[in-house]
Amino acid sequence: MGTSNKVRVRFPPSPTGFCHVGTARMAIINFLFAKKNNGAVIFRSEDTDKERSTAEFETDIIDSLHWLGLEWDEFYRQSERTDIYRQSLASLIASDKAYVSEEESKKEPGTKARVVRLRNPGTKVTFSDLIRGDITFDTAELGDFVVARSETDPLYHFAVVVDDAQLNITHVIRGDDHISNTPRQILIQEALGFERPLYAHYPLLLGTDKSKLSKRTGDTAIRDYRENGYLADAFLNYIAILGWTPKSQRELISLEEMIDEFDIGDLHKSGAVFDIEKLRWFNRQYLLKIPHQEFAVSALGIMEEAFSKRGLKWNSDIAAKLVDMLWERISVWSDLRQLIDEGELDYFFSDPTYDKGLIPGKKGNAESAAVHLGALQKLIADVPESEFSKTDTIKQTVWAYAEKEGTGAVLWPFRYSLTGKERSPDPFFVASVIGKQSVARRVSTAISALTV
Ligand code: GLU
Repeated sequence: MGTSNKVRVRFPPSPTGFCHVGTARMAIINFLFAKKNNGAVIFRSEDTDKERSTAEFETDIIDSLHWLGLEWDEFYRQSERTDIYRQSLASLIASDKAYVSEEESKKEPGTKARVVRLRNPGTKVTFSDLIRGDITFDTAELGDFVVARSETDPLYHFAVVVDDAQLNITHVIRGDDHISNTPRQILIQEALGFERPLYAHYPLLLGTDKSKLSKRTGDTAIRDYRENGYLADAFLNYIAILGWTPKSQRELISLEEMIDEFDIGDLHKSGAVFDIEKLRWFNRQYLLKIPHQEFAVSALGIMEEAFSKRGLKWNSDIAAKLVDMLWERISVWSDLRQLIDEGELDYFFSDPTYDKGLIPGKKGNAESAAVHLGALQKLIADVPESEFSKTDTIKQTVWAYAEKEGTGAVLWPFRYSLTGKERSPDPFFVASVIGKQSVARRVSTAISALTV
């Protein structure tokens, strides 16, 4: 058993599915605790369920945690440790702490099976949980429970106890869905003469409807969040502060700072709500911290791909002018893709089509809209091409006229003729991006549409 006092925690996912939010949170909490205490993280792939465990899921969990910037010091697979469990089982039987019992098979009624049962002293077991305080279970009702399906086939709880002891785990930090497993595991530990690790059971996350977090409320694979363009730092930050208030009360906090401030006693006793809107807010804060150049390169890459997919001719000069506007509008990279996929930005790259009835705006009429557009056309014709990229110049050019005639009556038709959208950025910005010729052409097309 453990001879040194070094903190050692385990991260023991079952690779029976992709790495999801709960899995990542288990890793983050254990990681923070270990790092805070100069300890080690032991990754243990609990792959004993041969039917449901796959190498693909294991790889996905590893990749997802690496993406989040987490690492571990040692790695084990339960499927490769069967001999160790068998030896412990044999010693338990030899010391008469467990016995082989020939019983009617549950799987195949009518046939006999040899299971191994623990001689349960049936005492009250109390353990002090680092988050929840003392917890007592009366273990009498567990009876002589089964610890192995046969002398060579130990069950999950047995393997966990042997692993935790052999790997010198000092702290078992896990979700409170495992509380009821703890007395059983303690009884096995005691029978094997192992030291008891310290336990900490944290409450599981809840969905926004306060029910157990599910796929519907956001407990989807980390890979999906990653593919949608969430930033690893933002994701890590949000998951870490769910159910934990750092000493400084800061919400936006780096991994280094989290390690510094981590105290397991500060984990909340009630379940925290995982809220995708809040996650989006975190992501936006991190997106705003990216250096401009870096943001632009990523944004342009996404734009080129998404606009080309829509069959629009790519124009990198136009796209470059959209970067700052988009930075204001998106929280996650997938928002940008969505804006483009939904055609919200097409008008920057190709002339829009019009719903004639919408050109004048709600309060205007076709006749006056045509008059206003005609007036704007003349004003704009006087702006030199070289000045046209300046939003302010365009604004100044048309502003006096718009104020005189009514800003809504003038600017709605102007904006709509440039974009074909009821909602869009202001017309001065759009005009400065698409350029003088496109503006002239679009305004004239809108006038024709109004006057036929
Ligand atoms: N393999 C278990 C799970 O993924 C973890 C068990 C434990 O922490 O003891 O839920």
